[in-house]
Amino acid sequence: MSGPLLKVENLTKHYPLSAGLLKKNIPSVRAVEDVSFSVEPAETLCIVGESGCGKSTVARLLMRLVEPTAGRVLIDGTDIAGLKKDALRGWRRRMQMVFQDPYSSLNPRLTAGQIITEPVENFERLSRKQREALAADLLAEVGMSSEMMHRLPSEMSGGQRQRLGIARALALKPELIIADEAVSALDVSVQAQILNLLMNLQQKMGVAFIFISHDLSVVEHIGHRVAVMYLGRIVELAPREALFAKPVHPYTEALIAAAPVPDPTRVRLEVPLEGEVPSPLNPPSGCAFHPRCPFAVDRCRIEVPPLVSMSDGRVVACHVRAPPVASRPSRHALERI
Ligand code: ADP
Ligand code: MG
Repeated sequence: MSGPLLKVENLTKHYPLSAGLLKKNIPSVRAVEDVSFSVEPAETLCIVGESGCGKSTVARLLMRLVEPTAGRVLIDGTDIAGLKKDALRGWRRRMQMVFQDPYSSLNPRLTAGQIITEPVENFERLSRKQREALAADLLAEVGMSSEMMHRLPSEMSGGQRQRLGIARALALKPELIIADEAVSALDVSVQAQILNLLMNLQQKMGVAFIFISHDLSVVEHIGHRVAVMYLGRIVELAPREALFAKPVHPYTEALIAAAPVPDPTRVRLEVPLEGEVPSPLNPPSGCAFHPRCPFAVDRCRIEVPPLVSMSDGRVVACHVRAPPVASRPSRHALERI
């Protein structure tokens, strides 16, 4: 297959506060603004940013659980907005989700075996023997014994339930799994086990991941590229190692500075993250980060900075750190991410 598995172009989602007949002048929550990125087969793209910056809305837009206000989602070059019922069903097999809290996303009355084989049974009938063999296989994939298939979610630990959620997502052999805060509710040691499991599954099966987390330290050791979101927009998207070694956007720098440092020899950066995240109902003019940015200049208060390509393969939206090159329109930068 050539080209990206998934391509997102200028994706935007506004939630109007009330649905009136007169649609004019109704304030809306700007959950996602002009977001573009792509995901290659077997790649992991991490999306990070503080709570409320639009990460889950991006996930919902990709799964077509909500309709975009503007922009497109292309899978293998096909716009998912145009898919009719059958095509949509086929496409849904290829993309699966893992949620933060498997306890609320797993049916508490079903056994582990029923939970993980249910996605397959929505498409084909299985005999009892087939179902048990499939459940045993899927449990083995996520490092659990086949005896677990008879347990209820309430009889499992948080880490086991998250493994169950992953096994369920794997059942249809998807090409892309969206993991939204999938380890955020777990203890640090269990987090590490689940992250290792996801990376091993990727190597073995070639599945791509979009890994969403509010916690930058979680993505420090996983993923190929990291997109940093602030108030609905991507402000920096970079290869993971480059992002952590040398953040360019002041917001990325501040997030890294604020994250707990497991390695005491690492130099702490000096940009404090002060103030609250502004409301997406009424985002600041220009660069939405300017009220919290120690480097803001006049232009930042007026103009939204475009995403600009840097020489090391990253894109950054910052008037100060990544001034646009006049001869090269920012649109070209978007083509490459
Ligand atoms: P994150 O996952 O990064 O925490 P979300 O995507 O859940 O952020 O939310 C982004 C913004 O959109 C938030 O301000 C949230 O309150 C708002 N939002 C999300 N879903 C809805 C909805 N259905 N109606 C109105 N506002 C929403
Ligand atoms: Mg969320």
